[in-house]
Amino acid sequence: MSVVQTPWQAGTECVANYDFQRRTDQDLPFTKGEVLTIVAVTKDPNWYKAKNKVGQVGFIPANYVQKREGVKAGTKLSLMPWFHGKITREQAERLLYPPETGLFLVRESTNYPGDYTLCVSCEGKVEHYRIIYKNGKLTIDEEAYFDNLMQLVEHYTNDADGLCTSLMKPKLMEGTVAAQDEFSRSGWTLKMKDLTLLQTIGRGEFGDVMLGDYRGSKVAVKCIKNDATAQAFVAEALVMTQLRHKNLVQLLGVIVEDRSSLFIVTEFMAKGSLVDYLRSRGRSVLGGDCLLKFSLDVSEGMEYLEANNFVHRDLAARNVLVSEDNIAKVSDFGLTKEASATQDTSKLPVKWTAPEALREKLFSTKSDVWSYGILLWEIYSFGRVPYPRIALKDVVPRVERGYKMDAPDGCPAIVYELMKQCWHLDPNQRPPFRKLREQLENIKTNLLYQ
Ligand code: ADP
Ligand code: MG
Repeated sequence: MSVVQTPWQAGTECVANYDFQRRTDQDLPFTKGEVLTIVAVTKDPNWYKAKNKVGQVGFIPANYVQKREGVKAGTKLSLMPWFHGKITREQAERLLYPPETGLFLVRESTNYPGDYTLCVSCEGKVEHYRIIYKNGKLTIDEEAYFDNLMQLVEHYTNDADGLCTSLMKPKLMEGTVAAQDEFSRSGWTLKMKDLTLLQTIGRGEFGDVMLGDYRGSKVAVKCIKNDATAQAFVAEALVMTQLRHKNLVQLLGVIVEDRSSLFIVTEFMAKGSLVDYLRSRGRSVLGGDCLLKFSLDVSEGMEYLEANNFVHRDLAARNVLVSEDNIAKVSDFGLTKEASATQDTSKLPVKWTAPEALREKLFSTKSDVWSYGILLWEIYSFGRVPYPRIALKDVVPRVERGYKMDAPDGCPAIVYELMKQCWHLDPNQRPPFRKLREQLENIKTNLLYQ
């Protein structure tokens, strides 16, 4: 019997589920976990012509590999699908009905705000264990302590350790999918044993960023900090599975260990954040061609997001990273959403955010264009903080009245013109990234021939 499936198109990415040794010179050998790109179909639907990371091409058996897909947008992924938030004891008992020993969920405690309750079905009865929050750690018995709920659940899954039963089956929150399962289904999980963590290279809002070695390549690894940031972390990884462009920091995969932690693995950007790069080198080292190149790089990455209907929401020089070969790439997709979603505005970077986004939560590609104008200003001022000498509280009122920053010292008039177009108070009057990219390309060409 054969399964009829649509053939994979050239450019499709696959991950190897097994090692493959070549039978003939024309085959491409690979090892489990390797990522391969389909080059062409063959007459035999069971074989494809594919390319590996170092560019070698050959035939591969289709059933040894799994297609890598973007995780479907809108999927509600959760690292803690058994967490039901603020529900009452009675609601919890109803959710754990009919009885099934080992079926469990976690809820927020109603009697003790800030604490949690672990509810477990056990021989026809539901037990409610109070989880106490003490000195930054969680505990049930004041013997075993955990950093977060995921670790706690992991512990009692492996061992009842005093509970009436070990945790056997999570009662899933309606409409959510376990992030861990969804990432492996779509082909994005990597193995911890292939990764060596080397040193801390950055501090992020969601956790530390480490330099790592994954199968001989340098990679950056974002490690989750705690429960509160878990969801944002998953959202970032989810967005990244859907993006591929030379000017966006590339996701390599996620690592899910013992279901209690998640690491986001991305390409390593050796020269760090663009703002630090500009500040540390400065005017004496970086020429105009270099500044223009960074501006163009970012505009290309943003043009891709624009074309695919993604809104970044946090575009700034601190969120652009520079590779070993000086290519600027947009990163930090923690706030990125498919166009149309709204969000909490209290944590927004005021100096980078468009007025309509601050005022009415109107985020769009056009609000990203505003931020891009600020980013251009940062590039041409070698990493200065925008709106120098204006108190933060005065920035918004002045901007709303039409105030615009002056051109940075030495900034070509033609580039300053682009900034001002980005800062049009009417979002519809701002140019699309496609236009910005074209104009920057023209400037580059004129520089070459002048
Ligand atoms: P946050 O989402 O909290 O802003 P970031 O993703 O910006 O966290 O990461 C924090 C810092 O870690 C960055 O400013 C940068 O210095 C470093 N960093 C992050 N990703 C990488 C990477 N892929 N390569 C090199 N350094 C990185
Ligand atoms: Mg950042």
